[in-house]
Amino acid sequence: MAAPSSLASSRLADLSRRAAAVGGGVAVTAPAPQQLRVGGISRRCRAQRVVAMAGSGKFFVGGNWKCNGTKDSVSNLVTELNAATLEPDVDVVVAPPFIYIDQVKSSLTDRIEVSAQNVWIGKGGAYTGEISAEQLVDIGCQWVILGHSERRHIIGEDDQFIGKKAAYALSQNVKVIACIGELLEEREAGKTFDVCFKQMKAFADSITNWADVVIAYEPVWAIGTGKVATPEQAQEVHAAVRDWLKTNVSPEVASSIRIIYGGSVNAANCAELAKKEDIDGFLVGGASLKGPDFATIINSVTSKKVAA
Ligand code: PEP
Repeated sequence: MAAPSSLASSRLADLSRRAAAVGGGVAVTAPAPQQLRVGGISRRCRAQRVVAMAGSGKFFVGGNWKCNGTKDSVSNLVTELNAATLEPDVDVVVAPPFIYIDQVKSSLTDRIEVSAQNVWIGKGGAYTGEISAEQLVDIGCQWVILGHSERRHIIGEDDQFIGKKAAYALSQNVKVIACIGELLEEREAGKTFDVCFKQMKAFADSITNWADVVIAYEPVWAIGTGKVATPEQAQEVHAAVRDWLKTNVSPEVASSIRIIYGGSVNAANCAELAKKEDIDGFLVGGASLKGPDFATIINSVTSKKVAA
């Protein structure tokens, strides 16, 4: 399926100007020599075609299993993941439903870290049905996904609530996959950047330590729909978010943070997306439920490397 049309041309012109001003811009597939940055290492390279990375962070791929699975299917998926050959220079995280985290922790290879899909906003106590950051730490769960569109738009969590959750999780040493992204009507109204920057601001108002944060840009119209953003559409938002971080947080955070893309990523489309310089990895829903497909997406880090 085709993705919705690109952002308004004035927005694009504005982005190009700003990207040029910060040395960012479109992915590099130009003649050598080019600056190649893979896994935070920067070097001169004389290859014919080079894919550059704007950020210095390690490629990151997360699998969001959502509200799927049974003890048996989780066991099968863990077996597939344990058997997969994964590129070494990728951080890999999976997010099972709460009820299976312990099962996954005790059976999954240490090569892959485990995330929750949600967490309570503060210290645990009389909050029926909630799980606290302290409890995640207690069972060895290192990450949490926050701000996912299904929690924003189906459950009704707002920007400030999500920002506070992120701050509390980080205070307890739980790392955060912070999701942002626009609805289809917001994109069509030319409001993609406004929406993403507003969501980013709510995170920035609460977060003081960005070292343990990964940003996931997930356009809502692309999640679970089979309508993946084009590499160019994803790249332009990622570059804009990195630029926003440079201006509103710090150049160091803008450069070191991972900005990953989510929305109908699969084994067939990941390589083209991964080539874009501001795409530092993926957050994957449906395709993360199939071990071999998820492994292919993880290994798409190879697209970042020299394609001579
Ligand atoms: C997600 O849930 O974060 C997601 C990106 O889902 P999908 O890959 O199925 O679109």
